[in-house]
Amino acid sequence: MLDRVFSPVSLGRLKLDHRIIMGSMHLNREDDPRALAAFYGERAAAGAGLIVTGGAAVNRAGAGGPNYLLINEPEAAARVSPMLDGVHDAGGRLALQLFHAGRYARESTYGLRPAAPSEVYSDFSRALPRALTPGQIEDTLADFAAGAAAARTLGFDAVEIMGSEGYLINQFASPLTNLRQDRWGGDPHRRQAFPLAVLQAVRDAVGPGYPVIYRTSGADFVAGSSSREESAALAVALAREGADAVNIGIGWHESGVPSVQGLVPHGRWMEVAGGIRTALTAAGVPVPVIGSNRINSLELAERALAAGHADLVSMARPFLADPAIVDKTRRGESNLVNTCIACNEACIDRSLGAEPVSCLVNPRAGRETEFPLPLRPPRRRGGAPVRVAVVGAGPAGMQAAATVAQAGHPVDLYEQDSSIGGQFRLAGKVPGKADFLQTIRYFTHELARLGVRVLTGTAPEAAHLARYAHVLLATGVRPRTVRLPGTGLLPVLDYRQAFADPARLGRQVVIIGAGGIAVDLSRLLADTGAAGGTAGGSRDVTIMRRGSRIGHGIGPSTRWAVLQEIRAAGVRTLAGTTPLEVTPLGLRVRNADGTTAVLPADAVVLAAGQVPHNPLQFQLGALGIPCTVIGGALDASGLNAVRAFEQGLAAGTTV
Ligand code: SF4
Repeated sequence: MLDRVFSPVSLGRLKLDHRIIMGSMHLNREDDPRALAAFYGERAAAGAGLIVTGGAAVNRAGAGGPNYLLINEPEAAARVSPMLDGVHDAGGRLALQLFHAGRYARESTYGLRPAAPSEVYSDFSRALPRALTPGQIEDTLADFAAGAAAARTLGFDAVEIMGSEGYLINQFASPLTNLRQDRWGGDPHRRQAFPLAVLQAVRDAVGPGYPVIYRTSGADFVAGSSSREESAALAVALAREGADAVNIGIGWHESGVPSVQGLVPHGRWMEVAGGIRTALTAAGVPVPVIGSNRINSLELAERALAAGHADLVSMARPFLADPAIVDKTRRGESNLVNTCIACNEACIDRSLGAEPVSCLVNPRAGRETEFPLPLRPPRRRGGAPVRVAVVGAGPAGMQAAATVAQAGHPVDLYEQDSSIGGQFRLAGKVPGKADFLQTIRYFTHELARLGVRVLTGTAPEAAHLARYAHVLLATGVRPRTVRLPGTGLLPVLDYRQAFADPARLGRQVVIIGAGGIAVDLSRLLADTGAAGGTAGGSRDVTIMRRGSRIGHGIGPSTRWAVLQEIRAAGVRTLAGTTPLEVTPLGLRVRNADGTTAVLPADAVVLAAGQVPHNPLQFQLGALGIPCTVIGGALDASGLNAVRAFEQGLAAGTTV
């Protein structure tokens, strides 16, 4: 039993029956009130408690992109009313996040040059902002106040002021981005003036007693920005000025320190929140502290609370992966929680652009109106259940089988390997990707709950499948073969063989390919060392590709962090390099400048893409057995797991 998680807590007058908050996420669906109502309502109904909306910009200059809610514009009420109703009808509470992007705004959104305390270029938005005049600062404070008043009038249960992650308020607090020498900057005390003035303006607008949460930075992780002591001092000042809780943000978008990627250990940053909590207690203003980042289960949240790092835990992505994470855990069904694997591929990477946010392991997320529950058999079959086979239990097959079973059809899931999971089993071996095995754990239990018959170690022949009304072919991919002269002079393996037994590869390994799989493999090889050698760092690993982009295909929020990590582990990365032949000493290559060289190697690994593996479609067609091909068996380009899960869901609902 998670006693601390499931104990009541108050944020001002707001009483909550557990200590998990669903944190703010920009969904890029803020122009679709029905979608927002369904998304938030489903999570509230499944125990989310207090939910914080995505950032609602207080004016156009502060919008983070074209889909941001503008709380002070006339259409705001129509946009937010359905989601308020959806959450309240389900018994939940909704806090509006008041947001201004500052220099992280994009001029292309409304044709407005981003506004900031000072003219300091941003690598994130690639913009040189204009410095706000004193009058414009007062106008911005009035916009925060108006947004807060609107939130209260519209029926939100609380507001959260976004003052971290390098957005406008954080920019005022930082000596890196606030170069002013007026009442709004010049020393640490005056750099607190704008964050405190925002709180004052909001408090005046909503009145005493209305819950105001302040998200403030615990650690900026940008060279030259505020010290940890300054961040703690600001949190203390905010508590003294009447914040009902402080929610501790970690890192800026320009930070070189990974804060949310899978390679960050679970709970890594909770000690930052703990430091703020200690400072608040020492100052005699012990308002509740909300910790966040890399907590993807309530069990981890319980540990953080038990360690005294925080009073509540904010989780965002885990609610994308499983809307019912709270209720399932409360019922003791943690094995049925679809766990966020911190891949960022369908959430953060999309939120940075314009694509609607969803979740790799839960493709229904954000699309609840497209796939309403309960899923039902399609009408064209008269709604009657039919017997369905799914062949292949990788991402597409697992998702398809679960979806078909949810719609009420009996399902047999065939997998030729001895266990389900497909290439997720390989990913789960990679340092920092162990959470991928949680997806396999989830589907193992979910498929059993749904009554899916899982037949591992079984590759059915086409004739055997004639007994089914429909067959979904999710037979996956095979590594692409690269024919090289000299193969045989050294071991040349494909990436699956290398993943299966990394220890036997020797001390020097050259990987042909530099996409996601090659990068993952290099991390594993650098970490495991060669058989008979000492582990970790004892192996020379090179990844190489003809093209110029190492780590191509890895999402923007993750690529930089992973490349930083493999380079720190000593992995050599060669772009513009063409493999020529295998020699007894290694792999001869042509370099980007046209010269040739031999890269010393004990083994060469091929990780240069994959091809669809689809041995059954033609035969099923000849036998007249209806079938649908999904996942990598249909399209192996980029080996896209997001696409595989989405196709599994879509195919599963159209059988
Ligand atoms: Fe988590 Fe990945 Fe889903 Fe984002 S897309 S919520 S990181 S599992």
